[in-house]
Formats: sequence, C-alpha cells, structure tokens
Amino acid sequence: MTDPSSLTSAVRRAAHRAVDGLAGGRFGSIDGVRTDQPLVALTFDDGPDPEWTPRVLETLARNATHATFFMLVQNARRHPHLVRRAVAEGHEVALHGPDHRSLAGARRRATRMVLGHAAHELRAISGAPVHYFRPPFGDLTPASFLAIRDAGLACVVWDLDSLDWRGGDERLVATEVVTRTVPGNIVLLHDGCAGEGRRDFDRAKALQLVLDGFRRRSLHSTTLSALFASGNTHRTVWFSRSHVSSPKGVPA
Ligand SMILES: [Zn+2]
Repeated sequence: MTDPSSLTSAVRRAAHRAVDGLAGGRFGSIDGVRTDQPLVALTFDDGPDPEWTPRVLETLARNATHATFFMLVQNARRHPHLVRRAVAEGHEVALHGPDHRSLAGARRRATRMVLGHAAHELRAISGAPVHYFRPPFGDLTPASFLAIRDAGLACVVWDLDSLDWRGGDERLVATEVVTRTVPGNIVLLHDGCAGEGRRDFDRAKALQLVLDGFRRRSLHSTTLSALFASGNTHRTVWFSRSHVSSPKGVPA
C-alpha cells in the first residue's frame, strides 16, 4: 500500500513540474542547469563581510575554484575593496538587494526603480557587469518577479540549500552538501550575516570541507555564467512570501 504522505508529495512534485512546463519560460526563476559536465555553482549570499569574505576568497583561491557572490549594496559600499577583490580573483558579483529587506508586497514600478539603482551602484563599485538577482529570504511575488526582469536582471534562486545560516557543525553541513550535490546544482551558502544567520559558523572551514568532498566526487565549482554556458538552464515558478508570513525559518 502506498504511503499517503509520499503520494501527496509525488502529486505536489508532478503539479509543480506541470506548472514549470506551462509557465517556467515566462515566469520562471533559474534554479539549476541540465549539464553533462561535472560542474556546480557555489553561491554566497549577504556579503561582503569583513570577517568572512576574505577567508572565503582565500579558500576558493587555494582550491583554484570560482564562485558567485550575491551582495548587498549597503555592505558593498562599506567594503568596496572586497567587491573588487572578488572580481579581480575571477569570481562573479551579483545583486542580493540594496539591503536585506523583503521585496514581497512592494509595487512593480517601485521595485524596478530600487533594483535598477542598486544594480547600477554595484556595477560602479565592482567595475563588472551585474546580470543576476536573488531575492532576500527567497521572497518573490509576480510583481517583484516582473520588476526584476524590468530592471534587466535574471532572477536566480537555488536547488540546493546548505542550511549554513542555521549554524551548527561545519562537518555535518558540508557532508550534507557533498552528498546531495549533482552536476548542474546551484548551491546556496552565505559569506555574510543578514537576518538570523549565525556568526559562530566557520564558513571557510565548511567551504574547504565541501571542496574536499567535491574533489573526491570529481565535481568542480564555477561561476553561474560558466555553469549556464555548460548546458540548459532550468526555470521554476518560484513564488514565496515566507518572510512576510513567517519570519522564522527563512533560508536566504
Ligand atoms: Zn540573504
């Protein structure tokens, strides 16, 4: 006999696939890539952070690995040398917002203006193009999705959440990431601390353990743009207002 809960989740997955098939091209956020290459994208949110970003950059350099940083403009303004260093070392800079406020509930036109200004400022600080936006808390409404597109940005979410924002044992967090990752994944990590992120979690140590595990599995991390170029992007209809309805238990 089939377990009713597994049947429910199977129905939910099938329904989600159907919605993605119908509307993913128009209203889809990028959550992964179908690729035949052993590539994944590590993405770091909420920085740059004066304590962790340098250590994350050192770890990436030591492992000859590249990543994408979804930065907050308020942090980029305070630490412009870290933004430029990330670009100089071959990483990609993307936008996580002017600050970590949820955009859900704001009007399309106002959000387009806010994101347009933020992307412009991040480009000026980094000296590099900014193509991607990831909404704080993963909060996204149809209005904010359209505003992101109006601002000339692509909405990129993730298909593998490291849950590093909860803190805990670095080895357990890294093992979980390494075990679950498959080629084409976009992995959510943090080099900064917004909202409820834990300051006592050693992000550089966790990253080194993830990269050790990837090496054993012959997986290689690269920037989002390089991952996208390696295959076909997958888009999902991702609408969520988790932060608005429930301020606890938010991921990004
Ligand atoms: Zn965030």
